[in-house]
Amino acid sequence: MVVIIDPGHGGKDPGAIGYGIREKDVVLGIGLKLGRLMNENYPEVHVVFTRSTDVFVPLIDRSKIANKNKADLFISIHANSGGTPATTGTETFVLGLHRSKENLEVAKKENSVILLEEDYSKTYEGFDPNSSESYIMFELVQDIYMDQSLSFADAIQHQFKSRLSTSNRGVKQAGLLVLRQSSMPSVLVEAGFLSNHGEANYLSTEEGQRTIALSIFEAFKKFKAKNEGNPTAIADKNQRSANNSRNTEPERVQQPRDTVKPEKAETTEQKSVEPDKTEPLQETPQTTKPETTDTEVQGTTYYSVQIGANTTPIEPVPGNFKGLKNVRREKTDKYYRYYIGKETSVEEIKETWKQIKLKFPQSFIVSFVDGKRIILDSSK
Ligand SMILES: [Zn+2]
Repeated sequence: MVVIIDPGHGGKDPGAIGYGIREKDVVLGIGLKLGRLMNENYPEVHVVFTRSTDVFVPLIDRSKIANKNKADLFISIHANSGGTPATTGTETFVLGLHRSKENLEVAKKENSVILLEEDYSKTYEGFDPNSSESYIMFELVQDIYMDQSLSFADAIQHQFKSRLSTSNRGVKQAGLLVLRQSSMPSVLVEAGFLSNHGEANYLSTEEGQRTIALSIFEAFKKFKAKNEGNPTAIADKNQRSANNSRNTEPERVQQPRDTVKPEKAETTEQKSVEPDKTEPLQETPQTTKPETTDTEVQGTTYYSVQIGANTTPIEPVPGNFKGLKNVRREKTDKYYRYYIGKETSVEEIKETWKQIKLKFPQSFIVSFVDGKRIILDSSK
């Protein structure tokens, strides 16, 4: 598993500043602490930082680092400012079209860092971070990772709620460029308001940063448990990064080891009360009602490879599935599932699966018995 930790801003870009406290410093502190928690507790997880020092990293390069490392999760860390000096709270964003002017303002603020980049107009194809019209493109976003991003964002806010005294501003959607160009479940955390004196002070302390990091880490534990060996809906990684014309090598940053005593993750498992937006780990057989006109379902058993699932349908065309032809989409309950192959023997589908796995490592075999979908334990 590869996790990208993306502390926002850096170098010539301080981000928000409040009471002398700079966003770039706060989020780097949180990011490094989060990375250390992951390394200490999950040595098998490969943590990659988009920056681990005070350097300027163009927005597009952050996504490139994530895409080139074939990351499973992208965590962008920021701190807020705005509203009135009394405005406080945490919020976590997933990609989408803003539902309120407030969310648009956050997107404008975070996206406007591209103005510090040379050739930003060319790199981002004329995207103007300050023009509301530019954001219309986010209406067309078909994010196959939305379920997982939302679920992770929910878990983060749930942790914040139980660990921080500040208000929970919830999970939101906005047109954030850094999320748009990353082809994996992605969230952007706004860890609090630097424009509020108390919150700025808190975020500048070791304790404050540690609590934020621990909250994200606890949410990550849930994400990891939920998604391991589980269907991950995958879209064409090239599709969304197609605009990236520059060729920067990904920055692989080793997690700095220092002498600070590592934070121990709390072992008490908290029961999440939020509704589960991702596909459940264990599924009971369900009756499948194929969307397609394909009717050879009744009275037969066949096997398919499931590539992914989501709630917002995308077209099962090769362009959306790394060039794979004959992907079929079926809808069961609220999920659109994407399958390939329809074989009558396990041996045959395993052959198919071998090929599919090269492109979609988290695909798995399902069988359909009289229209009922059953997940096979593919390890056997
Ligand atoms: Zn920021």
